[in-house]
Amino acid sequence: MKKRAFVFDWDGTLVSCNKRIETVLSAFFIAYPSIEGRFLELLRKNVSPGWIRKGYIASLPEDLFSFEFGLLAQVLVEQSQSTGVDHAWSMILNRFKELYLANQSDLLVDKSSLIQLQKIGDIVVVSNSDTSNIQAEINRLGIDEVGIRLVGNAAKYKVDKTEPVACGVPVSRPQYNEVLTKLLSEYKSVQVIGDNFSCDLALPFSLGLQVHYVPNDYTPRVLKKFCLSNDIYMSNSKQVIENILKNYGGN
Ligand SMILES: [Mg+2]
Repeated sequence: MKKRAFVFDWDGTLVSCNKRIETVLSAFFIAYPSIEGRFLELLRKNVSPGWIRKGYIASLPEDLFSFEFGLLAQVLVEQSQSTGVDHAWSMILNRFKELYLANQSDLLVDKSSLIQLQKIGDIVVVSNSDTSNIQAEINRLGIDEVGIRLVGNAAKYKVDKTEPVACGVPVSRPQYNEVLTKLLSEYKSVQVIGDNFSCDLALPFSLGLQVHYVPNDYTPRVLKKFCLSNDIYMSNSKQVIENILKNYGGN
């Protein structure tokens, strides 16, 4: 059995995905010009419903992705450009897919710190979908030599029960659970690092794994309070890695 795995989310945790999201939003505003005004109105009111999928909370409005696309889905439904919330989200995500590779991401951490981290455990990136896009980005970013392990199809957004919850977020995510269970059978210790608490951390936290949260401008206060009261380390990705290296330095 291998010693430890550091399980990272990709977008928003190891790379910035803001350019991509802004590009998708612009594409929608060009395709449906009537949407932008209402979107901006709701944006000012700060009332995003987050990512609702099949009636479940896939994510609180807690990052650019869930916050702004949540608002966009709401406006698409309101203005009858879509037959329902799920349909609105698939419209958005299909567009997102087309534009994904066209927009480059920036690395949020130093390559040297990833190399350091890889010395004390395996860096594993767990992605919602298939990993070919991430592999292409790894090559383009010049970090292929780090030896990051990629695990795909985790569909962290797929929820099948409203209970139990962590900070009001349902933790029952069967596909992600399968991925984590497999990693737990391979490694003595599994830690999870993510920028979206709902998708990345709610489940591993409820399983008792150590989690590290990378908050952002959209992070709701209630989530910060939850992390503080549960001793969840919160900082940007660089600091999270530094903190892990400090804790495990030398072995
Ligand atoms: Mg993310």
